[in-house]
Amino acid sequence: MDASRLTQWIAAASRLVLPPRCLVCSDQGHEARELCRACYAALPRNLACCGRCAVPLPLPVPECDACQCESRPWSDLWVPFEYAWPLDALETRFKFAGSLAAGRVLSDAWIDEGPPPSLPELLLPVPLHPGRLRSRGYNQALELARPLGGRYRIPVAHDVLYRARKTDAQSELDAAARLGNVRGAFAVRRVPAQNHVAIVDDVMTTGATLAECAKALVAAGVERVDVWALARTPLPGGRS
Ligand SMILES: [Zn+2]
Ligand SMILES: [Zn+2]
Repeated sequence: MDASRLTQWIAAASRLVLPPRCLVCSDQGHEARELCRACYAALPRNLACCGRCAVPLPLPVPECDACQCESRPWSDLWVPFEYAWPLDALETRFKFAGSLAAGRVLSDAWIDEGPPPSLPELLLPVPLHPGRLRSRGYNQALELARPLGGRYRIPVAHDVLYRARKTDAQSELDAAARLGNVRGAFAVRRVPAQNHVAIVDDVMTTGATLAECAKALVAAGVERVDVWALARTPLPGGRS
């Protein structure tokens, strides 16, 4: 047995012998996942929210005040979680600490919340700017889209949308600045053959990024664009 085969064998054997540990609290993992039963139960499900933009609310409504003033350029919306503890801790590890294991925990949890309101024919992860992709090493939206595509047998295309220009990190801007920051930032490289697509992202904050991607696809002739995001940030100041 050569050294690399031996290393692989040791890794496989240790997975059998050592139970996985929770990435949030280090307790024993549940169902062979790197998340314990308590942290899995604590994941904040986005059950009471706006039906158009998924913003968490005290009671579910078909359309929140903001959505009554502003049209949303997508059809169905699937955002199963609220961006709060302990999901935010996993997302931080996934996005900023290179933890693909945290990404797998998040995509497994997302799949558990299915099925989506409708099944599109193609999944399109929100693209990263090439510079950011190089520094992070992977696109977190693509890493989430792949297992979802596998679960629902939907192809994933990462060469349809692209960043037409570099933008600032949305998390560092207020709502008005976010809109201006991403306006015209996305373009369609090739028009997909499918008529019904879903854009996939990790965290939906104001929806400005997803709206720009949806507008670009609709302008390119795609008939129906849905939005799938892992989690929606609550309104500033909380739920009240
Ligand atoms: Zn835990
Ligand atoms: Zn809304």
